[in-house]
Amino acid sequence: MDFETRAIHEGQEPDPATGSIITPIYQTSTYVQDAVGEHKGYDYSRVANPTRTALQRALASLENAEHGVAFSSGLGATTTIMHLIDPGQRVVLIADVYGGVYRMTSQVYEPKGYIFDYVPADQFPRLREHLDDNTRIVWIESPSNPMLNVVDIRAAAEAAHEVGAIVVVDNTFATPYLQQPLDLGADIVVHSTTKYLGGHSDTVGGFAATNDPTIAERLYFLQKSLGAVPGPFDSWLVLRGIKTLAVRMRKHCENAMAIALWLERRLNVDRVLYPGLPTHPNHTIAARQMRDFGGMVSFLASSPEEAEALVTRTKLFQLAESLGGVESLIEVPARMTHASTATAPFAAPPNLIRLSVGIESVEDLILDLEHALRPARVRA
Ligand code: PLP
Repeated sequence: MDFETRAIHEGQEPDPATGSIITPIYQTSTYVQDAVGEHKGYDYSRVANPTRTALQRALASLENAEHGVAFSSGLGATTTIMHLIDPGQRVVLIADVYGGVYRMTSQVYEPKGYIFDYVPADQFPRLREHLDDNTRIVWIESPSNPMLNVVDIRAAAEAAHEVGAIVVVDNTFATPYLQQPLDLGADIVVHSTTKYLGGHSDTVGGFAATNDPTIAERLYFLQKSLGAVPGPFDSWLVLRGIKTLAVRMRKHCENAMAIALWLERRLNVDRVLYPGLPTHPNHTIAARQMRDFGGMVSFLASSPEEAEALVTRTKLFQLAESLGGVESLIEVPARMTHASTATAPFAAPPNLIRLSVGIESVEDLILDLEHALRPARVRA
């Protein structure tokens, strides 16, 4: 079945008890047993819940994965994956990783003896030189948050596998509609379902998928043992969100491309970062490994002061953290989502503005930016 069909039907058969076409919200903590240990596959909702099972099956299918594990947040998924390794072992991450991941690695796991090294995206073609036999995980975000760097996932996976490391790809920005990292050689794909998968800014969640049965078994064990599980209602909201993922992503991409092209012609915009622009340094890789270029656009304002003033002047682009909802958002990563990278070697530039381009009318969105960018003079 095609992607759009699986998004609506996979794991979401009509409810066997009632025929309900929509997967019910099984709002229960426990399940009655016929005799000790005799039950219908469910004994306690931290371990398993039917609404969560439906979500796991549907999302795994969209990532072309055999196994899917849902979590209470994207960081819940990340911290669970970090438990696949031990103190003393090494993780190599793309340098401009999401600020919350950097806060976790530098302030939670590093003091416990885990080793983290950050490799800038432009050095990924030489990734192998940054890996040693102690490297257990290569952690990639592509496109990355907030710089929208794109790395060659297939080449990175080959380099990582040479030293026996696994590759984890945070696919939050691309979504499985635009890119399926497991098909490119990654071992685990991870998501903040808070973003495009949920799609309506009304829930927080995370997800991981794999085709490796050993990793899957360990992740299911860690899911129930560490306990960062989503509740039934949150699982249901994401399940509802993914039904429209494909149509939403097409509109996000179309609007983002139009806005990136428009911004590129404004005199008071220093640089536009969007993988769909031919001027983007990784445009060729992006065109090869992605179906389209996504809904996120970053750009450099003329100064940090101008960046902070500009984000208060938009009306449709609302000043808020997060991304991937139907409504457009604007933010200054250095002061908001990536404040924890301030002391990192690869801190978000203070004059960087990040747009999560929604699915409103693109004409209205451009008028909003035109008003905020005053004077929005056009390049000759
Ligand atoms: N990964 C990326 C790329 C993100 O942007 C975020 C959150 O912004 C996360 C992971 C963390 O997800 P959550 O906020 O759901 O914990």
